Amino acid sequence: MTRAYDLAIVGGGIHGAGVAQRAAAAGYHVLLLEKSALAAGTSSRSSKLIHGGLRYLETGQLRLVRESLHERTALLRLAPELVRLERFHIPVYADTRRRPWVLASGLALYAGLAGFARGASFGIVPRLAWDGLDGLATQGLERVFWYHDGQTDDAALTRAVMASAQRLGAELAMPATFIGAELWDDGAIVQYMAQGAQVECRARVLVNAAGPWAAQVARAVSPAIAVPDVELVQGTHLVLDAPPPARGIYYVESPRDGRAIFVMPWRDATMIGTTEVRFRGEPDRVAPSTGETHYLRGVLRRYFPRVATATSRAFAGLRVLPGGEGHAFHRSRETMYAVDRESAPRVVSIYGGKLTTFRAAAAVVLARAAHALPARAARADVDRLPLPPA
Ligand SMILES: Cc1cc2nc3c(=O)[nH]c(=O)nc-3n(C[C@H](O)[C@H](O)[C@H](O)COP(=O)(O)OP(=O)(O)OC[C@H]3O[C@@H](n4cnc5c(N)ncnc54)[C@H](O)[C@@H]3O)c2cc1C
Repeated sequence: MTRAYDLAIVGGGIHGAGVAQRAAAAGYHVLLLEKSALAAGTSSRSSKLIHGGLRYLETGQLRLVRESLHERTALLRLAPELVRLERFHIPVYADTRRRPWVLASGLALYAGLAGFARGASFGIVPRLAWDGLDGLATQGLERVFWYHDGQTDDAALTRAVMASAQRLGAELAMPATFIGAELWDDGAIVQYMAQGAQVECRARVLVNAAGPWAAQVARAVSPAIAVPDVELVQGTHLVLDAPPPARGIYYVESPRDGRAIFVMPWRDATMIGTTEVRFRGEPDRVAPSTGETHYLRGVLRRYFPRVATATSRAFAGLRVLPGGEGHAFHRSRETMYAVDRESAPRVVSIYGGKLTTFRAAAAVVLARAAHALPARAARADVDRLPLPPA
């Protein structure tokens, strides 16, 4: 017999897990399909920051920054073992493009947008303490600002959210590869491969949370649904065989193009990232390039000349950004949503977004899907559900 669900979700990244958790908490019958492993895609290859995104102030994305800071506060409360505040440092040199007054105004606005939440303060590191900053180059150094933001283990957070969804009754099929869906007036017939066999189920709403594969998933729906103009942009991180910076995270400016780059502790190593390079291939094949590794090593040498840059490993992930002209760095980072029809949608797709804002994205998806879903008795309130490590 064909099994029937309220929602079938494609993708076990942070967005799929977030929607599964919120939907199961609202009492819906949920199935999540993941083709390889939880967080196998972008959700294990991010910069691992739960942050408002200080640099998004430059492009005027105030709504996104406010929402992200709000989500940071929520995650610090709900997942204290997985998300913690770290001290960030922003060094300003004679040749740094973002001048001290720009940074001071940005930090004041950032603190204001965070309200009086934990971690909203910022300040200046006294000159006498510069020598204690993990070997940061001091020649030409004029000022060092500090502030706080969150750091996490992105894959562990995704697993924790999915475990919470499963405790609330969501089903996980893994490995299970979505291959197509046929839309009917009251929902979708979803086809997927699991254990070498083709399986079919019915769902009132299909949630496409396939990250960089979302356009592929949308194209496998019939009759055809619209696919927005999006672009994949690759981001690489290097994890170096060097002890982690003891004082926290450094937010530096690439001398080559002015892009903001993070140098941060990651487990017992130093991690640096990221890059932004347009990607045109098959998402499964994303891999760090030599050009990206050189670029990141160059940034590290400029600011931490004593850190050995022999790479122990590198990893790359894909952002989904709105298509358009100009450098990806300046493109909007807002989550994009698409539905096959406004009233009673049968497909809700998520494009792009942030690890930090997954809860807010899940709330939007459920609000859109709600018109097509039956009334169910809620099981829990996700704003009060702790997220212990899975
Ligand atoms: C370099 C980089 C750095 C970033 N840094 C940060 C950061 O510091 N902070 C932050 O908030 N955000 C950050 N982001 C953004 C954030 O990582 C992503 O928005 C988020 O991880 C996307 O999650 P997702 O669930 O949409 O996609 P994914 O994590 O990619 O999940 C999609 C899943 O779908 C599965 N899938 C695909 N096709 C199928 C199919 N046919 N059947 C079944 N399953 C399928 C895949 O296996 C995958 O697991 C960064 C992004 C990048 C690229």
